[in-house]
Amino acid sequence: MAFNRDNYKKVKRAFEEKERAAKDTADAKKRALGAQHPDIAAVDRELSQTSMLIMREISQGPDRIAERIDELRRSNLALQKVREELLISHGYPANYTDPAYECEICHDAGYLADGSMCSCFKRAMVLAGYESSGIGRLLQTQSFESFKVEYYSDDARSFENMKRVFALCRAYADSFTAGAGNLLLCGKTGLGKTHISTSIAKVVIERGYDVVYDTAQNIFRDFEREKFERSYSSQESAAPSTDRYFACDLLIIDDLGTEMSNTFTVSCLYNMINSRMIAGKSMIINTNLNQDELMKRYSDRITSRLFGEFSPLLFSGVDVRQKKLGF
Ligand SMILES: [Zn+2]
Repeated sequence: MAFNRDNYKKVKRAFEEKERAAKDTADAKKRALGAQHPDIAAVDRELSQTSMLIMREISQGPDRIAERIDELRRSNLALQKVREELLISHGYPANYTDPAYECEICHDAGYLADGSMCSCFKRAMVLAGYESSGIGRLLQTQSFESFKVEYYSDDARSFENMKRVFALCRAYADSFTAGAGNLLLCGKTGLGKTHISTSIAKVVIERGYDVVYDTAQNIFRDFEREKFERSYSSQESAAPSTDRYFACDLLIIDDLGTEMSNTFTVSCLYNMINSRMIAGKSMIINTNLNQDELMKRYSDRITSRLFGEFSPLLFSGVDVRQKKLGF
């Protein structure tokens, strides 16, 4: 697991606020109830003495300490029982002033007594991961489950090929670890490269990894903006920095080759590929370009890495987007 640190901080803060709000609401209810019903207020006052009484017993020395504490515990439980009966007699549910936590298991702390992360916290981290990955909306419609290999069945070779590509990508996602290796998804537009890479991202995020997904165009625009701001602006940028392209566990670059390329973008691409390889971090690159076109467009340093360090998966068939529309 390598959750995104900013997401972790954000989720942790949200949980702390949630926990505090539940307690504050319960306290306010308790005060209002006590003001209305003096008999309950009296029991509450007695109950609030418990920890002070325990401290007093402890300060009186170790003699029969377990027994004395046990006695206090029993009288505390009896008082709680009295309180519950009073609540019911006044027409309230017995748990009327209990904090209403969203999670019954961890009481919105996010962690269990043994220090492990509660499933509700993990779920919140996954949702934050969807958001920070940049895929957001695509995740609602694109997943391995919604990928139809049958769309490729017109031609037997494409069908066999796409079944293999699908199985390989699925296995890649299901067994993803930080050094899972790199994939180069090649093939013409409309053959499902984005759909498959989004599906991989979804599974990998759900398995607790930090994923960043964007088009080559947007990624290079970020680098250019950052360069511009560094040169011409003294102010810190509010936009997320390009650090995330280096720090995440899995970087997915969609549509490589559609950007306006120049020496700057080419050196950014090289820098990303090279830094991530040195750090043992994985990448997926989608491109419509074939080998010759890639070689023409990018430097030898880049293409030798793309062909040497990425597993190429060729998407074949006819444009499946038309089939989805019923043509
Ligand atoms: Zn929980």
